[in-house]
Amino acid sequence: MIIILRADATPQQVQHILETVVEWGVQPHVSRGVERTIIGLIGPEDILRTKPLEAFPGVERVMPVLKPYKRASLDFRREPSVIRIGAGPHPVELGGQRIVMMAGPCSVESRDGFLAAADAVRDAGATMLRGGAFKPRSSPYSFQGMGEEGLLILAEARERTGLPVVTEVMDTKEVDLVGRYADMLQIGARNMQNYALLREVGRTHLPVLLKRGMSATVKEWLMAAEYVLNEGNESVALCERGIRTFETYTRNTLDLSAVAALRRETHLPVVVDPSHGTGIAEMVPSMARAAVAAGADGIMVEVHPCPEKALSDGEQSIVPAAFQALVEECRALAGAIGRGL
Ligand code: PEP
Ligand code: MN
Repeated sequence: MIIILRADATPQQVQHILETVVEWGVQPHVSRGVERTIIGLIGPEDILRTKPLEAFPGVERVMPVLKPYKRASLDFRREPSVIRIGAGPHPVELGGQRIVMMAGPCSVESRDGFLAAADAVRDAGATMLRGGAFKPRSSPYSFQGMGEEGLLILAEARERTGLPVVTEVMDTKEVDLVGRYADMLQIGARNMQNYALLREVGRTHLPVLLKRGMSATVKEWLMAAEYVLNEGNESVALCERGIRTFETYTRNTLDLSAVAALRRETHLPVVVDPSHGTGIAEMVPSMARAAVAAGADGIMVEVHPCPEKALSDGEQSIVPAAFQALVEECRALAGAIGRGL
């Protein structure tokens, strides 16, 4: 249920409503917008329907939430959420006016190689660094990532470049460990519906990048975000990375219409990953540009100084020079739609 308050509702009236609903065993969620304050209520709808919510002073209107996702929905919060990523005085803001460029190799493969890649993407204009230490590989015989050693390298790269780090966590048992090194926890496509893992990252205070499951609908994806939000972690961003369709030319079908769909449904920031979305390096820049034009808040691109030597996803990795050109193109596009990089 959603309570829309009158523009002239007083803080005492708001407090009175909050205290009363808590007595009913209902969890209130207050969203203070520019024009109106909204109180979202999460609790048994059948009980809420029996309560005279409209009789409370300060209340303008009461509406049921028809969507299965509540905290993620625009009904609960009308303004876009802005997520702050990184400790220190100048965190990166995802979901604000500036588009965030996340870049780096698919995997952390070695200390020297990763530090060189990190310097290169920073010089090219990246605002965040990516790299996997725990890798969800389709084959158990493929490189599985460097594990904790990789996390140490990521932390060193962050110190050196000043860029916040996003890296994947695959297992509930590793959330603490990865959380000690990462600025943002990535939930990979294969784990989008791993509800135990979603709950566990929801109990941390770190921002979460939730990648879309390869066969997940927009609704299922938002319900997965709801698991994280429902544990109290409000910093969730959604990352479109392509879905399975009949088309096999590309590794996945990058669903850019999902960006527009999410805008209609949620206040959460949206990131697009054209690397996994296409699987083909040559196609990455055009799809990244299209994502900016479609309104994405961030782009995640796999960049490798020497793609033919990459231990994972070399075929879809672009070189730093190509990334630098892409950053400049995205900057121009962002300007055209009233945003910046
Ligand atoms: C990745 O970002 O390297 C990755 C494994 O992505 P996804 O989970 O989207 O396949
Ligand atoms: Mn990858």
